[in-house]
Amino acid sequence: MSRSVRTRPEGSGQALSEAYDTALLDLDGVVYAGGNAIVHAVESLATARAGGMRLAYVTNNALRTPDTVAGHLTELGIPTDADDVITSAQAVARLISEQVPAGARVLVIGGEGLRVALRERGLVPVESADDDPAAVVQGFGGPDLPWGRFAEASYAVARGVPWFASNTDLTIPSGRGIAPGNGAAVEVVRIATGAEPQVAGKPLPPMHRETILRTGAERPLVVGDRLDTDIEGAFNGQVDSLLVLTGVTDGALLLAAPPQHRPTYVAADLRGMLTGQPEVVASGAGFRCGGWTATAGATGAPVLELEGDGDALDGLRALCAVAWTAAGEGSCALDGGKALARLGL
Ligand SMILES: [Mg+2]
Repeated sequence: MSRSVRTRPEGSGQALSEAYDTALLDLDGVVYAGGNAIVHAVESLATARAGGMRLAYVTNNALRTPDTVAGHLTELGIPTDADDVITSAQAVARLISEQVPAGARVLVIGGEGLRVALRERGLVPVESADDDPAAVVQGFGGPDLPWGRFAEASYAVARGVPWFASNTDLTIPSGRGIAPGNGAAVEVVRIATGAEPQVAGKPLPPMHRETILRTGAERPLVVGDRLDTDIEGAFNGQVDSLLVLTGVTDGALLLAAPPQHRPTYVAADLRGMLTGQPEVVASGAGFRCGGWTATAGATGAPVLELEGDGDALDGLRALCAVAWTAAGEGSCALDGGKALARLGL
């Protein structure tokens, strides 16, 4: 890819909700966690929407239908239509429809969200490898998916029937811990067949294309909590991204991010959509943002150092600039632990 490597978070004189026409929001770790709304999410989204920003919710989870997701968000106090929800089931259904004859049968290993998405594209979900399917598709089936479904998929895939997966997230968070995700289920069939599926979900292009086709976004901003799905998906789609720290990414992960995992902007939570973003500027041997100046190795040790005070996020932005500049196209190996502890991050 010929894009220049990002070496610092960008500034914005304008509120992000005004600079971009559509927010493509991840759900888990951004809007809700464990079924409950994340702090500041409800009111921040309401304010962004009232200001004219289109809000769309983009999820790799193929189990639930857009209707069900929209109902959940509305219950949380975020009024949402089914049309505002884009799932990896929809992205993979479109991908399949482009490669099989109209009205083809598709063997489904997954849940209702996948079946509804296939029917929307005129495809016919079937349950058995003996039903002469033109494709096999796997999406997250939830805890009640019987083991025999993987055998069904394997029989068809081993015969050479084209194999698709909604997404390959290996794990899925639940209220009780980390559970195996659809990627783990895909591994089961891969082990049995040695075959390789075509995958639609974040960070791959079919999912981003689906969100753009469905929202008509011209200046989209991807908003997510995960570097290897949300932020990398934005990178692959060549659009800007906002990382929020309400989910799985902490300061240390962000500092170590390789180029495809570096967001355009970083904020503590969704309130960051409603404001401009401070500039990070070169300062002496390091970088300054707000009241903080970050440098590397000034004391001779391979560590990131921080001086000043003010907003912790400004300190993190300055540290990102030092770490990403030092790392270039790789991943920063400098120790940021002490600097991050000083910021409480
Ligand atoms: Mg997430």
